[in-house]
Amino acid sequence: MKADLHIHTAFSCDSEADMEQYVKQAIELQMQMLCFTDHVDLNPDDYGYNYYDPTAYFEKFNAVKAIYGNQIKLCAGIEFGEPHLYGEKLAQLTKYPYDYIIGSIHWIGNMFPCQKVREQYSAKEFYTLYWEEVLRTVKHGGFDALGHIDFPKRYYGEIYYTEAKLQEIFKYLLEKDMIIEINTSSLRKGYNETMPGKELLEIYKDCGGKYVTIGSDAHEVKDLGADMDAAESLMKDLSLQQVVYENRKRIIL
Ligand SMILES: [Zn+2]
Ligand SMILES: [Zn+2]
Repeated sequence: MKADLHIHTAFSCDSEADMEQYVKQAIELQMQMLCFTDHVDLNPDDYGYNYYDPTAYFEKFNAVKAIYGNQIKLCAGIEFGEPHLYGEKLAQLTKYPYDYIIGSIHWIGNMFPCQKVREQYSAKEFYTLYWEEVLRTVKHGGFDALGHIDFPKRYYGEIYYTEAKLQEIFKYLLEKDMIIEINTSSLRKGYNETMPGKELLEIYKDCGGKYVTIGSDAHEVKDLGADMDAAESLMKDLSLQQVVYENRKRIIL
């Protein structure tokens, strides 16, 4: 199924894309489902701090759905940054009728993997801190899928992990009935594999992971559905099952 479950619109601080244009493009591409997952970032250092407005989002979403809802399945979501740090806010937001919530780690304290941080911390040092933060967030839970699990890869261009740490993360994730996404944005940033790539997906599977969602992480209409074929073939190679979410319930395709 052509379902892109990670899309940013103008309700994210770092996108100007119009929801309706995405929908028109998706119909053109014969996609069956979209989920708009705008950023909710509550780290004061993030330039999208407090940018997200759920009332305005749902107003737009409902208007677009009323026009196109009979041609394509449209779902409402968010990409919530560092769920373990802002649990109360997450709980408040989930009173809105979201279909799907991505939990992502973008920040470790006041550190984002920007160039300055990369000069200070080697990939190994940064990833070591990063995995601990991911572990804290999966232990907290409250979301459906962990976003771009090896996020620093997009900036460092490499990955560092220990299998034991990943196993620990997946254990808590799966215990809470959460899953991971295959995020294709790294392919557009010159990296040669999706986030995660095959190695991490194999560990996920060995830990009992069965399901994945697929997301382009598009911030522009032209990137909608990008490289979904790569994600699909990876999923098939590893016999993982693509799923979607509606009303926070997993639907196995
Ligand atoms: Zn993200
Ligand atoms: Zn995103």
